Amino acid sequence: MVDLQGQYHKMQNEIDQAVLQSIRNAAFINGPEVKLFQKKLEDFTGSNYVIPCANGTDALQIALMALNLSFGDEVIVPAFTYVATAEVIALLGLIPVMVDVDARTFNIDPAQIEKAITSKTRAIVPVHLFGQCSDMKPIMQLAEKYKLWVIEDNAQSLGSEYTFKNGVTRKTGAIGHIGCTSFFPTKNLGCYGDGGAITTDNEDLAIKLRMIANHGQKVKYHHSVIGCNSRLDTVQASVLNVKLNYLSEHLEARRKAANSYTEALKDWPFAHIPETNDNVLHTYNQYTLIVKNGYRNELKAFLAEREIPTMIYYPLPLYRQEAFKRYAGNGYFLTNTEDLCQSVLSIPIHTELNEEIQSHIISKILEFNPQ
Ligand SMILES: *Cc1c(COP(=O)(O)O)cnc(C)c1O
Repeated sequence: MVDLQGQYHKMQNEIDQAVLQSIRNAAFINGPEVKLFQKKLEDFTGSNYVIPCANGTDALQIALMALNLSFGDEVIVPAFTYVATAEVIALLGLIPVMVDVDARTFNIDPAQIEKAITSKTRAIVPVHLFGQCSDMKPIMQLAEKYKLWVIEDNAQSLGSEYTFKNGVTRKTGAIGHIGCTSFFPTKNLGCYGDGGAITTDNEDLAIKLRMIANHGQKVKYHHSVIGCNSRLDTVQASVLNVKLNYLSEHLEARRKAANSYTEALKDWPFAHIPETNDNVLHTYNQYTLIVKNGYRNELKAFLAEREIPTMIYYPLPLYRQEAFKRYAGNGYFLTNTEDLCQSVLSIPIHTELNEEIQSHIISKILEFNPQ
């Protein structure tokens, strides 16, 4: 599905040097590399403030902790997402309210958000799934109308963009009140372990987020709020400082590979290719097909026999996960989410997918002909 070794080889000298230097400096906690990365990511995202942290899940948790929410408050999330989005909500004693997604884009459906808003709703967490920005214009309008916070789960979409009707283009993570991203190795900007970051334009929030990520202290050993210990590792920051220089190139490689798949598969009768809205720049962290007529598992097995790896993101709606049973008491059944869980199949896409490998993958897919 990915080729992290191939990607490393192309940057090997720079990365080796950066890592070695950070080890020699021995400033392992909050070293200068972390500060530098913070600055570089602020420039890249166009956000006023970046708060580096330990991983994308922590980023979401810290974001929620900064909003003064109360036990039992409701937070709206898409039902079709990775567990981390809803997990941190439940962990903080808040209620994840799961809503259906747009069957075309896989992203949360703004019309469904409005239906789910109650007097207890405090926040919306749109997830920019697979590299595509959620429809942020109506989401921000709802947030304004109902006085809700918007936390973007940007773990899969760093570098993606959204253009508003007035022509203004913003990077994902810099649209809502807070953005959360992950540097898990397979994300758009991956480090060599775990890492994450929070983005915001709001200075008060930035101060609070930074404090929460650091044991609730602004001044050492003076703790004003309950926080946690969530730091971006200095060695990881040294890797990210190199890799961020290549991010635009890497995103372009993903988009090029996606275009080749789309060109080859757009008329293929057994699957729908992923659709994008016109006003987004999709960065294809995943290239996800919607396989028709119940052939998903058959296609997956067919490709596995031909040594083509595929993944099912995600096989279950959040509300069908055992861990979330207690939140599913009111009989969730979200049609698009249910259908997607039965039909999605992600095929290999990454920064090192050359034409030869990709032609091979495409030719194997096209051989599939169920009777
Ligand atoms: C990866 C991911 C996360 C969590 O990021 P980690 O760094 O693995 O904690 C959260 N949300 C989504 C949608 C993700 O894909």
